[in-house]
Amino acid sequence: MEIVCTPEELRIFELVGNASAELNVSCYLIGGFVRDKLLGRPTKDADIVCTGDGIALAHAAAALLKPRPHVSFFKNFGTAHFRYNDFDLEFVGARKESYRAESRKPDVEPGTIEDDQLRRDFTINALAISLNKDDFGKLTDPFDGLADLERKIIRTPLGPDVTFSDDPLRMMRAIRFATQLNFEILPEVFEAICRNCERIKIISQERITDELNKIMAAAKPSVGLDLLYKSGLLKHFFPQAVDLTGVEIIEGKGHKDNFYHTLQVIDNTAAKSDNLWLRWAAFLHDIGKPATKKFEDGHGWTFHGHEVVGERMTPRIFKQLKLPLNDRMKYVAKLVALHLRPISLTKEDITDSAMRRLLFDAGEDLEDLMILCESDITSKNKMKVKKYLENFEIVKERLVAVEENDRIRSWQPPISGDEIMQIFNLTPSREVGVLKNTIREAILDGVIPNTFEAAYALLVEKGKELKIQPVGNFIRPSGGEG
Ligand code: ATP
Ligand code: MG
Repeated sequence: MEIVCTPEELRIFELVGNASAELNVSCYLIGGFVRDKLLGRPTKDADIVCTGDGIALAHAAAALLKPRPHVSFFKNFGTAHFRYNDFDLEFVGARKESYRAESRKPDVEPGTIEDDQLRRDFTINALAISLNKDDFGKLTDPFDGLADLERKIIRTPLGPDVTFSDDPLRMMRAIRFATQLNFEILPEVFEAICRNCERIKIISQERITDELNKIMAAAKPSVGLDLLYKSGLLKHFFPQAVDLTGVEIIEGKGHKDNFYHTLQVIDNTAAKSDNLWLRWAAFLHDIGKPATKKFEDGHGWTFHGHEVVGERMTPRIFKQLKLPLNDRMKYVAKLVALHLRPISLTKEDITDSAMRRLLFDAGEDLEDLMILCESDITSKNKMKVKKYLENFEIVKERLVAVEENDRIRSWQPPISGDEIMQIFNLTPSREVGVLKNTIREAILDGVIPNTFEAAYALLVEKGKELKIQPVGNFIRPSGGEG
């Protein structure tokens, strides 16, 4: 393993070294940058620690760069940051920490580079590289982190119970790194996580969710989600997910374990899309199952309406996990609500109007819904999966054909509400809504084509029922073709 820096990175690091010599302090690259460089992973931000004032070093280094970057800093934390080209540099003074039981905020005092390495969470995050003239580029590795990088192991520099009890967020970080890097958490370290899982309660939900989202964004989120479950962490912040676990057997009939099924669906989705919110839709697609589970004689296990229950649970879960309560949440709730629809179209004798309804309801999210639905096809029976996937392809083709013909996805009514009011000389009222719905339903059902003329004729008919008739000659504004 070796570190390969770009000439630009080297130039910046040498300047930082010069700045620290001016200030008479030593400085080192440390943490994620060193780890990721050694692993050959792309990285665009570097943490620099110095035996002295990190803010002063940041200013001195910035003064040597052209154009001179703007330094932002937090006096209280003693940290400073600047961005140069697209490279982020973070400066901090080396420190020594000691913890008390009730808080993850340690007492901090200035320390040596060794003190600073000792407070790091994992051996692979404690590697430091000197930027000082006399030993520029030298790696300091007090806890054998390099060997752990090679063996792909997550290990703590101190006893793991101390590490996790001092700052319980590290339990989430261990699982996140294991997932992102495809590393194994050393068994005794994982056992310490299990023992200390309850301590996660002192961590704010925002920080927990930050880590959770990093797990969700990894190539194979199931690795981390399974570890979260097995360690006992998950139940403390997302008990609804834990409710998905387990298999019940009645009269010899079992249902599938919905937790492990869900993990499979998340991985399948992740293989097809980087969209974090689509992955969240996969996480929540069956979340309504435990509440709707029934054993029906003669039938076996059913989960009727779990998609509706799941849709309703979504805002609550987003709030609980401090996920954004905006259109992202609405998108996830919508996909949860619709997740059974595409597969239901694989049955025989499906009409075009069922296709149109799905195009209408899914709208711009149809592709994502199809990814979710396809990912939901999991079974131990390979033949079954193959058959389903083949039928699913047929549905996709039909949806494309119906959409080409009828243009439902970005559907605008051929006659707007305003126009309906003009045609019948109505003020905003219930009738306007009824007439609008009549047009939409007739088009989706294929009773009339998606044109102005057909919709106008239908309006006149429906108007008779409501005892209203068009007044005078309605002239269509130009540009509004049906
Ligand atoms: P990434 O940037 O990919 O999240 P990282 O390792 O750089 O990974 P940061 O959160 O940026 O993680 O932290 C930078 C470094 O600070 C870490 O490598 C680690 O040495 C140290 N660190 C961060 N959080 C903690 C913590 N909770 N306890 C101990 N050390 C930590
Ligand atoms: Mg980092």
